Amino acid sequence: MSARPAKDQTRALFDYPPYWAECYGRAPFLPMNRAEMDELGWDSCDIIVVTGDAYVDHPSFGMAIIGRLLESHGFRVGIIAQPDWQNADAFKQLGAPNLFFGVTSGNMDSMINRYTADRKIRSDDAYTPDDIGGKRPDRSTIVYSHRCREAYQDVPIVIGGIEASLRRIAHYDYWQDKVRHSILADAKADMLVYGNGERAIVDIAHRLAAGNPIDEITDLRGTAFIVDDLPSDWIIIDSSKIDKPGRIEEPVNPYVVPQDGAAEAAGSPCQDGSGQTSEQSPAISADTSPALADLPALEMAVGSTTQVLTFMSREERQAIRQQKRNMTVLRLPSYDMVKNDKVLYAHANRVLHLETNPGNARAMVQNQGGQKLWLNPPPIPLTTEEMDYVFDQPYKRVPHPLYGKARIPAYEMIRFSINIMRGCFGGCTFCSITEHEGRVIQNRSEDSIIKEIEIIRDEVPGFTGVISDLGGPTANMYRIACKSREIEANCRLPSCVYPDICSNLDTDHSSLIKLYKRARELPGVKKVLIASGLRYDLAIKSPEYVEELVTHHVGGYLKIAPEHTERGPLDKMMKPGIGAYDQFKEMFEHFTKKAGKKQFLIPYFIAAHPGTTDSDMMNLAIWLKTNGFRADQVQNFYPSPMATATTMYHTGKNPLKRIRRDGEEVPIPKSGTQRKLHKAFLRYHDPQNWPMLRDALRSMGRNDLIGNGKQHLIPTYQPKGDQVGYQNARRKNSTPLDRKSGRGAAGVGKVIKGQILSQHTGLPPRETN
Ligand code: SF4
Repeated sequence: MSARPAKDQTRALFDYPPYWAECYGRAPFLPMNRAEMDELGWDSCDIIVVTGDAYVDHPSFGMAIIGRLLESHGFRVGIIAQPDWQNADAFKQLGAPNLFFGVTSGNMDSMINRYTADRKIRSDDAYTPDDIGGKRPDRSTIVYSHRCREAYQDVPIVIGGIEASLRRIAHYDYWQDKVRHSILADAKADMLVYGNGERAIVDIAHRLAAGNPIDEITDLRGTAFIVDDLPSDWIIIDSSKIDKPGRIEEPVNPYVVPQDGAAEAAGSPCQDGSGQTSEQSPAISADTSPALADLPALEMAVGSTTQVLTFMSREERQAIRQQKRNMTVLRLPSYDMVKNDKVLYAHANRVLHLETNPGNARAMVQNQGGQKLWLNPPPIPLTTEEMDYVFDQPYKRVPHPLYGKARIPAYEMIRFSINIMRGCFGGCTFCSITEHEGRVIQNRSEDSIIKEIEIIRDEVPGFTGVISDLGGPTANMYRIACKSREIEANCRLPSCVYPDICSNLDTDHSSLIKLYKRARELPGVKKVLIASGLRYDLAIKSPEYVEELVTHHVGGYLKIAPEHTERGPLDKMMKPGIGAYDQFKEMFEHFTKKAGKKQFLIPYFIAAHPGTTDSDMMNLAIWLKTNGFRADQVQNFYPSPMATATTMYHTGKNPLKRIRRDGEEVPIPKSGTQRKLHKAFLRYHDPQNWPMLRDALRSMGRNDLIGNGKQHLIPTYQPKGDQVGYQNARRKNSTPLDRKSGRGAAGVGKVIKGQILSQHTGLPPRETN
């Protein structure tokens, strides 16, 4: 395989001539067995999606989105969901696909799905019928890919979804406590699709259908593959040493002559600081650059020498710059280097995060033990028309009938909720949404959202008039964006809201307010709730929005995530200070009172996040007690693949800043004892934690917090029979939600003032002790 510059891929998702198999029409459900294929009159599938989740035909499930989208292009798509992976039999049940296998672990990374934050195995799985654990293997993407290969040696395999996306380069794996290869190398698949995969997967399907071999498809954004050699006509920037994190190149000389172009390339950062040339890198030169070759030239005679001067407009200069950028690849430190050197690992992570904006990201290459992994830049965000196209497919909005009456908790949770957008510009370091969905918000149109509410109202069984959520990764980023598309395309900042709200961010919430109003006025809709997490520092910029939200869309309580109270961990999370929470709380209480309602704010916190000291946790506990909060369920920081905070956890370095060997050391609560202590501080009121907290407070010199008065954190006594409050984690994980106690999923159960939850995986809360 050899790389080619990634196309801009601005061709609309719906702008392809349909594949010939369109004549079979749309399937009521994508088939999961031969009998269903027979009923549809299919002799074979064109594409088979293998997934670790149960098949739910709903736009919140990856296999349904990709399957229905490809179906809309005329392809026959089959689903193999949660197959028995012990041998290849289950992977043959639909026969060989004509074009490719699409393999995904499902909506979650399989290791996060299977294990708690303390690496204990879960007994449940919200994406499986009846919530039963153990229906998918560890590292599902790898296992499924191997079985597909065993089943049909020559069928191309394309891996995608969150697990593939976040493990696309060499990455730290928390469960093995080591750095692993790119998942593409381990899976031995042909191609990896990362981020929002729609554009790439549609193009791949059409090109394979047109007879192009998979190893010739190397110009698609959002894809990764193995290359034999690095292309000789690209600029290679060696970023394999500290610290050369992909600077933006010099402005192009407006009077550039062809010879200058060559000279510039020769002096390009193809060499590292030590002067070693990392790769032969003949850069774009006058005669190889079409942009240059096409330009009008003015010849001038100067003495006896003839020089060619080229006058260029701003647009032409930009085109040249873009041309250069499109043919530039960053060399990341190799797998072996980042495996053996934590500082280089942190550096590689920083470089990767600097290359996430599709407006200016460059290709990257990383050696993986003898193989060269090539990553094209991220996909271009979907337009509103394209988002509508994806969400307007004829989803049945229920699990496949094969599951009968089995309950699938992840489906139960979202079946009356609407996803209105994708992406997040918050950049919280413990979260991987930016790395996966990107920082540019991709919005659906109001009409498409309203239409979906009407479909739910009219067709989804069990609808009682309550839309349980109108949100997305963040509740209030709908139609919020940078004031200028041009600035946005050039921006390299990791967040639009940290350390403060960027002055270029248009924080106007009026589109969201209008949408809320229209949604709740629909006949047959009694209530529209907002259950997605709210970015409260953004919300306070629009008091009208907060009033609208508080007056009409809060179901007793509203969850928000300050995550901590102390500046140390907050800075490592890229979260605003607790002052913004206080401001929002004031607004929330003011408008709640004005509306004559009784409702509460539920703040979420993370224990043991990188950058957190014991004192930070103690101060958080004091804040909780002072404010009358008692955390019901708490979660320690969970180092998920590729998150910036995970890099801090692994390396002790801070990739938010330039990495230096003698740079900042981040305090990491890593040992089991310290993680336990941090969690205990969050549950300071639980007698089981008091002995540990007393010891900790004494060793911190804070005996003043031990006593039996209101001003104390922990009492001096220990009650008898102090087993209250906790259940065995595994038992609790498989125990149905207790509605009476108020412990349960967002939107269900009794609201208890002062009771808070500290887990926001998007799933029903559960103890992860
Ligand atoms: S300039 Fe500001 S608002 Fe615009 S993309 Fe960059 S951080 Fe976001």
